[in-house]
Amino acid sequence: MAFNFSVTPGFLIQTRQLPLETSRRASAIQTKVYPQWYKQATVEWSVPASWGNCIFDVYFSQVEDTDFVKINSTPITGTSFTDTTLREESKYNHGYYVVEAILLDKGNVALRSSPVTWKTAQRDWVTLRAIEVQRREYWLLSRFGGIKSYLFRRKNYGKRCTTCWDPLTETVTRDNCPNCIGTSFEGGYFTPVSLFLQYDPTPNNLVKNYLGQDEENQIGAWTISMPDIRLGDIIIRTGGWEAYEVTRIATTELQGNVVRQMLTLTQLSKGAVEFQLVTRNLPDFPTQYLDSYQL
Ligand SMILES: [Zn+2]
Repeated sequence: MAFNFSVTPGFLIQTRQLPLETSRRASAIQTKVYPQWYKQATVEWSVPASWGNCIFDVYFSQVEDTDFVKINSTPITGTSFTDTTLREESKYNHGYYVVEAILLDKGNVALRSSPVTWKTAQRDWVTLRAIEVQRREYWLLSRFGGIKSYLFRRKNYGKRCTTCWDPLTETVTRDNCPNCIGTSFEGGYFTPVSLFLQYDPTPNNLVKNYLGQDEENQIGAWTISMPDIRLGDIIIRTGGWEAYEVTRIATTELQGNVVRQMLTLTQLSKGAVEFQLVTRNLPDFPTQYLDSYQL
């Protein structure tokens, strides 16, 4: 099935005042800003897979309707941006971000998100409590219970893989393609972000059945509500350098505010095509292990 793209009025939201020169606003750009207890803010976004290959710019303004200034120096190919110009005390001020997506496969159409801020209109007591819970949990995770890990977010849009993707039939022609790691998108995963996860003790179950015996390869882990973890993402645990696929996510909420992400992780074998992520872009991976980890 061929894909047709057209910009229809229904899918764009035109606002009363257009804060940026370009007039196209797209509600389909999902944008989040977090967290406020850092000395910086991270803007994270996602766009529909159907948009194809995109690059992004991030704009900032202290007011919601005007004066947006581009804050990234080069176009962003990933799905997040950390604004280090934000000062710690600025959480008492307002600030708004707009993410612009440039759709490279659709004639460089530029679409912009609605302004988002770290300060929601009304911070009720529960929200403040939820933020405080997370601040404390992050502190504990980063110092005691947590193990530094890397989250590789699986690509669900972008340039299709040149090795295995057949544009005519829109199908993958090769299983376990090493170029896109089976995702059908070039590179397979976005640049990793580091996070702290608390892992459950490794289960030590041996299940015997008439086919032989199985060892349990799933493990539980949790972290705070950010970054957004999605099914199919890959988590690399430092130290042991195990690779896991996220196969189940449940959240704990405090009256509607997500405070924890509880994950079920399925450990990947060293032969799995995703395992090559272990050696990719991870600054603290011990290079002396490279030989044994190469596929
Ligand atoms: Zn491929």
